[in-house]
Amino acid sequence: MKAPICNVCLKSDVLCSNCEEKLENGEINELEIQISRKLKELSDEYGSLRDSEILHVYDTENVVVIVTAEGDGAKVVGRSGEIVKKVAEEIDKSIRVVEKSENDREVIKGLLSPAEIESVNTVFTPDGEHQKIVVDEEYKGKINMSNEEFEEIIEKITGSHYLLSFE
Ligand SMILES: [Zn+2]
Repeated sequence: MKAPICNVCLKSDVLCSNCEEKLENGEINELEIQISRKLKELSDEYGSLRDSEILHVYDTENVVVIVTAEGDGAKVVGRSGEIVKKVAEEIDKSIRVVEKSENDREVIKGLLSPAEIESVNTVFTPDGEHQKIVVDEEYKGKINMSNEEFEEIIEKITGSHYLLSFE
């Protein structure tokens, strides 16, 4: 298993100097450490985790987002969500797993699911050009996070700024 912390730190209660430095720089956060260690522990029981890669963990008010390498989402979710359920119990919060992808649309789809993207349009505002993701308004309030939280996480994962709009 690959995680934001090294293999030694995955199995230990303390951090090595390298990982400690990453934590101090803000390259990694406490939640990433906690969740990575929990997944490592679960990998004894769930073989699918052994060749999975955890890239980042982002916290929002109502849900924690785990970003995996492309193709690793299902390995971390587990059959019928068994693995994420255990992690969710540990941190007492819902979890959403999203795969990183070169294709921004795939990342957006993963973060919005089961809501679907209606369209992505270029819009012009006084502060420049933006990409606006339009989702049917029937999904408003059903994606577990605010528009601001969604936009921030999408920007962290894809490096691009998107606006989310329910219309
Ligand atoms: Zn380490």
